[in-house]
Amino acid sequence: MDIENLKSHVHDIPDFPKEGIVFKDIAPLLASAKARNAATKLLAKPFMNQQVDYVVGMEARGFLFGSLLADVLDAGFVMVRKPNKLPGSLVTQEYQLEYGTDAIEMQLSAIPDGATVLIHDDVLATGGTAAATARLIKKAGGSIIGASFLIELDFLNGRAALDGIDTYAVLHY
Ligand code: AMP
Repeated sequence: MDIENLKSHVHDIPDFPKEGIVFKDIAPLLASAKARNAATKLLAKPFMNQQVDYVVGMEARGFLFGSLLADVLDAGFVMVRKPNKLPGSLVTQEYQLEYGTDAIEMQLSAIPDGATVLIHDDVLATGGTAAATARLIKKAGGSIIGASFLIELDFLNGRAALDGIDTYAVLHY
């Protein structure tokens, strides 16, 4: 399946969740077995010949293709979640929002020291979430080998926030 066909499975929803934002809806991509499969293969391609011990996916849509990607790469899958969702000993990372701060958490024991980790989320926008995730993984002792996204909003230059991390996206807007 070519890129334009894949893109036709991502719908633009203007002014969602608030005015001025064009939301990239990946529901049609998930709903089509063919498109979902093609997208997963393209996500995995740059990392096929690398040792990936864990894919770390961000709540909530990062869980979807993140676990499919982990399956193809024969890697474990680890969840990064919003506060108060995960049990046990946790690592926490705060990050800046446009107004105020937010935080994400991961289970401390999820990543053994020195394990190789690939970050995954559905959309790379400003890069704030992915950069916070990278800090979280480093705190836990993981070694980041890359960051992969289904969609990159090129005009926001989010990859600048991930300096030094090999960053890859299937679809660019
Ligand atoms: P950021 O931290 O700015 O890179 O935002 C990334 C997070 O927000 C991801 O978890 C995305 O799911 C979500 N996100 C940001 N912008 C969009 C968008 N235009 N459409 C869909 N999801 C988005």
